[in-house]
Order: sequence, then structure tokens, then C-alpha cells
Amino acid sequence: MNTEEITQLNEQHVINTYGQRKLALVRGEGARVWDAEGREYLDFFAGIAVCNLGHCHPTVTEAICRQAQTLVHISNLYYIEPQVKLAALLSHHSFADKWFFCNSGTEANEAAIKLARRYWSVKGTPKPEIITAEHSFHGRTLGALSATGQPKYHQGFEPLLPDMKYVPYNDLQALEAAITDRTGMVLLEPIQGEGGVRVPDPGYLAGVRNLCTEKNVLLAFDEVQAGLGRTGKLFAQEHEQVTPDIMTLAKGLGNGVPIGALGCTNAVAEGFAPGAHACTFGGNPLSAAAALATMEVLTSPGFIEAAAETGAYFLGMLAAVAGDHAAIRQVRGRGLMLGVEFDRPVAPLIEALLDAGIICGPAGPNVLRFLPPLIVEKPAVDCVIAALEACLEELGW
Ligand SMILES: *Cc1c(COP(=O)(O)O)cnc(C)c1O
Repeated sequence: MNTEEITQLNEQHVINTYGQRKLALVRGEGARVWDAEGREYLDFFAGIAVCNLGHCHPTVTEAICRQAQTLVHISNLYYIEPQVKLAALLSHHSFADKWFFCNSGTEANEAAIKLARRYWSVKGTPKPEIITAEHSFHGRTLGALSATGQPKYHQGFEPLLPDMKYVPYNDLQALEAAITDRTGMVLLEPIQGEGGVRVPDPGYLAGVRNLCTEKNVLLAFDEVQAGLGRTGKLFAQEHEQVTPDIMTLAKGLGNGVPIGALGCTNAVAEGFAPGAHACTFGGNPLSAAAALATMEVLTSPGFIEAAAETGAYFLGMLAAVAGDHAAIRQVRGRGLMLGVEFDRPVAPLIEALLDAGIICGPAGPNVLRFLPPLIVEKPAVDCVIAALEACLEELGW
């Protein structure tokens, strides 16, 4: 099919919740993708931080093919070999003792909300209140949406879940003031993604950890976007050496095969018991095999370190561009999760970059966000920087 034909069918039969561009990408390899007419693009968004190993990584593709010929699905009523291997590997590389698997980031956060509530309820001290941050993003199902501190996503869906409170991000005093004896969990992104690529000040996450321990509140980190090598560490919490009680993963976990996960300590896992929570597809053989292969590549020696180095190089190049353009307010981020804040909406710039063959995206109206596959190398970064400079020139910014 050509782009015109795909566009027509999409407009007739797909509910318009995305407001897509008229572009159909039909093939990918590494950091490159091709549209229906065969035009090549450099993908610096990786399907929204999903294809961290690049498109069609051979190790993952081989694992998917092998598993598809062996067993695709069997349900969680029985043990699943790739799932238990994945859980053990995730535990080996994190604070978490135990895992629950689902299909997406919102489901992982939904599980975190339910786990926290049930944990305190089972203990006989119900503490239903959950505190999250302004500008946060935790997903679109009603619980995770209620946890999301952005009113624009709430409009039209009220009433939301009760007992949700939002505090300014990166403000320890505000959090301390908000915690009451009804607070059961604080849920935060260790680096905010969707809300503008916001990196907290050093010490903030450690301060949050201390506060939660002191006040007997569970701490959950949403690592759905920042996790899995994206920020130059396997998990973004490692930058501050802070461990939560619960963490959620999704996006990059299966390198494109849908899978989400919640990890927690043994103590917190006691909040769930057989029948308390479930997911038909969660961690099924196919998605778990893809995630296991992804994790093996991600944790291979030097892989994430190389991505961190490319990220530092990219950040430096972006900072140099910022020096020449007053329209750029700030360049920020960690590893290969980078944002460029402008003094104006970035939509026209994203369009211009796309015309130049570069795929990236926004993080709120004024922030340009780059989330390239972690396998990108300096020449690809140079190519994006050159295109960015040309587009800024063309727009007169
Ligand atoms: C994308 C995202 C989610 C939601 O993930 P879905 O898989 O789209 O449900 C949750 N939290 C963060 C931090 C995200 O970036």
C-alpha cells in the first residue's frame, strides 16, 4: 500500500485519538526507518523510548521467532519459563525481589496503585491516599490517569479516582507538607519524561526516600520511560543511588513487543495474594522471551556505558546549538533522554525536522524531545545536529 491508501483507510476506520501526521513507516533497521514510498528517516524517538536496541534488533527478532514456533501463550494459571527467567534477571539487576507482569506502562502503574492500597489494607491500617507530582505522566487508564498530574489529560473523564494529591516536582518541602497519616504511596518519575524532560536536583530523590521511610509511606518510581538504559544507567534511580519499594517498567522492556512490569520488595509483594490482581496476557511466553533477549543485550558489558557516552556528546552538541539561538531556553536530560526547551511551541520545528528526514517529538508544547535508540553513534548525532541547525535557520528562530 502507498501512503495515500493507508491514510484513507486510517481516516475511515481508525478512531482519531492521535492526530497523526500523514506518514506511514513500514520498515526499520537500527536507527533507520522507511516510509511506504521507500524514503529513509533517522529515528530519534524510537517509537517513544520503546525500541531502545534499535528496530528489529537481531537478538530480539531471533528470540521472538524461536518462541513463536514453540509456545506463544498459555496463561498465568501455569508457570511460564521465559517469564521466570526474566523476573530473575530483572531482580539480579535491581532492588526488586518479585515481579508482576502486564502489557503496558499504564497497567504497571495501575498495579502499583492497587498494590499500595491493598498492602496497607491487608496490614489493617488502610492508607488510600497517593501523592504524585505536577507535570507527571503515568498512563491513560483511569487509575494511572488520576495519578497523572496534568489537568489537560483529565478533561472530560471526571470523576477521577479519589484520594490523589499532586505536589510540585523537585520540591521536598511541598511533599513533606502533603504527607498525612492517610498517605500510602508516593509515586514519582525519577526523571519526568512526557511532562518536559525534567531532571530533579541532586538530593531530591534521596530526600524523598528519607521522607517516605520516616513517615512509613511506600515509595514507587515510574521508570516506564527513564528506565532500561535510557538515561545512561539501567534504571534512572541509580544516578542518585536511591531504591524505591516499587518500580514500574514498560516501554523499552520488550524492544517493541508489548510488556509491562511491576517490581517490588518481598515485604511489599505480601500486599497481593492469589486472586488479588491478574492480567491474561501479562508476561506471556512471547513477550517475556522478547524482554529476556532485550535485557540480555541491555546488560551486556559496555552497552549502556556506550549509550551514556553518546548521550553526553549529544547534550554537548545541543548546548552548543543553544548558544547560537536565543529561542532556546534550556537544554537538559540524561543519557539519551534529552529535551530542548524553547520560548515558543515546537510543533513547526518537529514538522521541519521530519521534512528533513529526522524523527523526534515533543514533551509538552515548548520542549523538543530526543529519545533515539541507544545504539546510535556520533555520526547520526552529527546528522541530527546539522538538520536542527538548518531547520532553526529556515524558521528564523
Ligand atoms: C509512556 C508512559 C506511561 C504509560 O505507558 P503506556 O505503555 O503508554 O501505558 C507511564 N509512565 C511513563 C513515565 C511513561 O512515559
